[in-house]
Amino acid sequence: MPQETSAARGAISEDANASQARQATSDSSREESRSPPAVDSKKGFFDYNEEKNLHHIEEKLLAHRRGSDAATASRPVSLGSSPDFGPDVHHLDAPHLNIKLSAITEPALPHDGRLPDPTLTPAVVPADLKGKSKLPEPPVAPENIPIFEALERCLDLRDKYMRVSGQKLGFNPRDYDGNFTGLDDDIATVSGVRPDADWASRAPPESRFKKWRIYPRPPPPHWHWKGKQTVVPSNPDHQDSEEEFEFSACEIPDADKYTFGIDERGVYQVYDPASESPKSPVYEIPTIREYFVDLEKVLAVICDGPTKSFAFRRLNYLASKFTMYSLLNEPQELAEMKSVPHRDFYNVRKVDTHVHHSSSMNQKHLLRFIKSKMKRSPNDVVIFRDGKELTLEEVFQSLNLTAYDLSIDTLDMHAHQDSFHRFDKFNLKYNPIGESRLREIFLKTDNYIQGRYLAELTKEVMTDLEQSKYQNCEWRISIYGRQRDEWDKLARWIVNNKLYSHNVRWLIQVPRLYDVYKQNGSINTFEDIVRNVFEPLFEVTKDPSSHPELHVFLQRVIGFDTVDDESKAERRFHRKFPYPRLWDAKESPPYSYWVYYMYANIASLNQWRHQRGFSTFVFRPHCGEAGDPEHLASAYLTAHSISHGILLRKVPALQYLFYLKQIGLAMSPLSNNALFLTYERNPLPDFFKVGLNVSLSTDDPLQFHFTKEPLLEEYSVAAHIYKFPQSSLAELARNSVIQSGFEMEIKRHWLGQTWYLPGAAGNDIHKVSTPSSPPHCIIRSTRLRY
Ligand SMILES: [Zn+2]
Repeated sequence: MPQETSAARGAISEDANASQARQATSDSSREESRSPPAVDSKKGFFDYNEEKNLHHIEEKLLAHRRGSDAATASRPVSLGSSPDFGPDVHHLDAPHLNIKLSAITEPALPHDGRLPDPTLTPAVVPADLKGKSKLPEPPVAPENIPIFEALERCLDLRDKYMRVSGQKLGFNPRDYDGNFTGLDDDIATVSGVRPDADWASRAPPESRFKKWRIYPRPPPPHWHWKGKQTVVPSNPDHQDSEEEFEFSACEIPDADKYTFGIDERGVYQVYDPASESPKSPVYEIPTIREYFVDLEKVLAVICDGPTKSFAFRRLNYLASKFTMYSLLNEPQELAEMKSVPHRDFYNVRKVDTHVHHSSSMNQKHLLRFIKSKMKRSPNDVVIFRDGKELTLEEVFQSLNLTAYDLSIDTLDMHAHQDSFHRFDKFNLKYNPIGESRLREIFLKTDNYIQGRYLAELTKEVMTDLEQSKYQNCEWRISIYGRQRDEWDKLARWIVNNKLYSHNVRWLIQVPRLYDVYKQNGSINTFEDIVRNVFEPLFEVTKDPSSHPELHVFLQRVIGFDTVDDESKAERRFHRKFPYPRLWDAKESPPYSYWVYYMYANIASLNQWRHQRGFSTFVFRPHCGEAGDPEHLASAYLTAHSISHGILLRKVPALQYLFYLKQIGLAMSPLSNNALFLTYERNPLPDFFKVGLNVSLSTDDPLQFHFTKEPLLEEYSVAAHIYKFPQSSLAELARNSVIQSGFEMEIKRHWLGQTWYLPGAAGNDIHKVSTPSSPPHCIIRSTRLRY
């Protein structure tokens, strides 16, 4: 039901917008042809004329967006003949075009008219078809050529941004496990080999790095959990005993000769003092002006009517194809999964790709912890308030509460009833019993007790995860950018408390709270935030001994996130944006501006760290949960993958680009259900059918989940409501590992030796139990006609 209605809505909005959008595109192409003027370093990055011009486009785009509700609809002319979705050929024939319309490798058609295998996961050409010629490819309808060209430009743009920031697979020294030797840049994407690349005919490149050492060492391939901190290899010959984290055993490399500094545009640059031009940066990072121009190009394409119609039909086609595949093949799939020994839904690896650390435990767990602290250590001095130290007992006395009074209901942290479209209320749910001082005591890393309680609680959650063995987490933990020493404090908290688990990796979330800090005077300009967040990272990259704990902690940090309420109105004083050092307005910069400064500084940092053989980072922001679709376009350019992305349902062309590029979406339908979109309207099942790279994640177990295994709860509800079969759950689990930042050595063990290859070559059914092993391709594609 919801699918049909949304489809119908999509169709209406498309028709209504076509003509205006075409106008907008032609304007923007005029725009592109202008030569770039010199940058005015004082005021911003666009001069007066340019700004006027851009403003003109902006208005058109905005009018166009509003137009989606307009009642007057006119059919786009170019859709008189629909795009050719001929049986299954996606390589277009036009001489200068080699756009790949499908992110999934599909086998060539044999001549007896059998259709190829539209499997859930990419399929490979079965051996007996190899070498045979493909069917002649249908010519591209002339009116589609501009659409393909525009889409291809967008794909190239993303490639550029991913390359510059080193987010493609094979750039990070952590990817080198002694087996994997990297990928050539032209065939690499963020999560593996391009589906259209001829990888089989290439020799693997020379390895640029030595084998990455994971410390503490991951457990041996087969092990049982046996009480705290003890992992027993099931094979007694395996002599590897558990390695416990010891800070003193960590290697701290020497300082580098390169220097760094923040430039006038607010981006950290790396310089080589020994070079001929010591003042010019070693690495070339796109400027903010270039970024906004590129963003504008993408926005123009995704707002173009014919492109929208094309993408909309194409997405529909992909979804229908999958539906038909499931209708026809579910029994075979099930039989195939049954034939795999040992592996089932419970023992495929799942990664919770989006979960905030401070709400990673469930309420019952937190409650039990608070009660036990009240009982066992009432005399702990836990907080300094109003000029005096308070013990835990005194804190609860001041709240008029005893351990006996406490229940889940008094704790009141569930966000089920009253937070829908109220992100402000949701944020308050982080306070146990509505008391910020309890949050301060129990859920903060930097407090009067140096985060001791939170560390203990974290260890308990880690133990739960280790016990479950197959569930893993990527916890988001905050760096606010208020003070310079936040990184050191956080790193010391992790290292001193030995918060290391085989099942956990960390992401740093930067809350977009400029306006709050500006108001309370902790910062002056936006540049202060950029400096506080990034300077320590450049210092530690130059000389790890300057922040040894941070250097060690960063081995387990896989990337960055940025979070806040996306539905907040953004003032559109666009294009007049000053550089960060001049941004002293009381308003926070808009999403796209924040994203650029995260991206550009990560890019510069990554290049340097890569050169030094240190681990690099990916950018995986919260995006497309609410607010303007422009957020999604900026993430399309800059992000490895995103969290949420539910708004992609409103932007078909962008959704199609996300599909082609297989950009990961860590979706949390239970979280959306409490905040922005009811469960049954969530686009996750539609995205999954289309073939987008979606995974399931929990977001905030403390607020949304009831059980000790929130990730399983998430899968369970999805299976119930969306009627996902076992094979789809297994595919979601596989996607979650691919999206995650676990090291290559670990992913290889979890997914199979060549998981990064496209098609069935990358799928090992014994590891992930997704049915598409090559011998079955032919069975599936028996004489089916659409
Ligand atoms: Zn979140």
